[in-house]
Amino acid sequence: MHGIPEEFYSGWLSRWREGEGVSLHEGAMPPERWMQQIWRHQRLRRGELRCADGRRVRVLHPGFWNREPGPDFRGAVLQFGENEVVTGDVEIDLQPAGWFGHGHAVNPAYSRVVLQVVWETGGRAVERAVLPMAPFLDCPLEEMGPWLEDEAVSRVPPTTPGRCCGPLRRQPTERVVALLEQAARARLDRKVAELGSRGRSLGWSVVLWEAVFGALGYKHNVWPMRRMAEVVSQAPEGDEVMVWEARLLGLAGLLPAELPRGPAGGFVRSLWDHWWRERSAWLGSELPVSVWRLGGFRPANHPTRRLALAARWLALPDWIQRVEQFFLAEQNSRGRLARWVALLTPERQEARTGTDAFWSEHWTLRSRWQGGPLPWIGPARATDLAINAVLPWLLARAAAGDLPGDHGSMQAQLVRRWMEWPSGQDNADLRFARRRLWGGAAPGVRWTAARQQGLLQVRRDFCLAAGSLCAGCRFPRMIDILDGAGMASGGPRP
Ligand code: SF4
Repeated sequence: MHGIPEEFYSGWLSRWREGEGVSLHEGAMPPERWMQQIWRHQRLRRGELRCADGRRVRVLHPGFWNREPGPDFRGAVLQFGENEVVTGDVEIDLQPAGWFGHGHAVNPAYSRVVLQVVWETGGRAVERAVLPMAPFLDCPLEEMGPWLEDEAVSRVPPTTPGRCCGPLRRQPTERVVALLEQAARARLDRKVAELGSRGRSLGWSVVLWEAVFGALGYKHNVWPMRRMAEVVSQAPEGDEVMVWEARLLGLAGLLPAELPRGPAGGFVRSLWDHWWRERSAWLGSELPVSVWRLGGFRPANHPTRRLALAARWLALPDWIQRVEQFFLAEQNSRGRLARWVALLTPERQEARTGTDAFWSEHWTLRSRWQGGPLPWIGPARATDLAINAVLPWLLARAAAGDLPGDHGSMQAQLVRRWMEWPSGQDNADLRFARRRLWGGAAPGVRWTAARQQGLLQVRRDFCLAAGSLCAGCRFPRMIDILDGAGMASGGPRP
């Protein structure tokens, strides 16, 4: 028998983690590395944040996670009360006393810290800017547990083949595929649970736009893109493409202060004309351009172009319904990706309005004329949107009973679609994992997007937590058990 028992992967993992004492319970104080992930991903009710001294704090950017010595986050962009927006560092400590206890107060490396984030202040008044995190979580800590276990990995091993490499290469392909699909399902379930808990507290459309913008920002601009999603939820509905485009680019701080030469100059001027009209209503919400990474990728991935695309979706009053319908209606799986790309591509008649004639011939607001027509979105980004944003979001809604029809069969259909989706673009994380697990290509495995997700999950669950020498990794033991060494004796023991 080459298959594996149902939920073998997730069952094994949770027993292992229980054995390691990695669990959360009500009233528990999490380790700092989990607090770092909560801050990094802003798993907070962001509209309600208040410092211990009562000042409101708005997080325009949480800063860049620093894994070197020094403050935990560099370059955060914050606003305290109605004061000017400030840029500085953020330090995460369990308690306010950590500021002195860890010597930060006298360490020049911490001189740019503008906010200390702690778990709780214990009701004590603190004169510095100290934000207690515990009262503002976007869902109970216990509910966040599996997601935190996923995110809070800390060590990155080199890409040498791991201890599991030999045993894994000896496994029949069918078994390897079954294992990858179970890991993928575990990953999907965690994402669905995260979206569900946020959707129930923030609203489903807010959470969809967060996920969609996050996918558009992959991989270097996820956070500022998610900030744009928050703006979407505060803006009036029914505006035209040009208004949305000017609003998003203005709020992103990506409208050039000086008009470029040539046709781009006229186009940027018309964007400014729109943005000037409403800029004062968004006072304090504009991001500094420094929060964006604007180089080192293909021009099609530039955030300016991605925001222009999002503006076109936002201007369609029924865009969310179209997306829903696409995945909920019965349809042949053949050609589904091409139809999805077509749905995400702004309609041709827009070109005749003149607003996107510019984008069909330029990659960015500063790039040269390209002759066009340039594509808005390709299969790789469309796959990412389906796999990491829209399908998990629909599953979270189905689980919450927020979709019409029979929820059980709806969930089964959505999971099937997720599992069948063709493979996405290869990337450094996938190459890293293949190299660790197989020393290179995985023999015989036909990759789908779900199997790629499963591989990323194995990497996250085992490789990133174990270190370069695979110290203490239980994945090889899991494979031994699949070989029959432990199945007969009442189930696997990590
Ligand atoms: S850490 Fe574990 S899963 Fe990763 S390569 Fe080493 S043995 Fe394999």
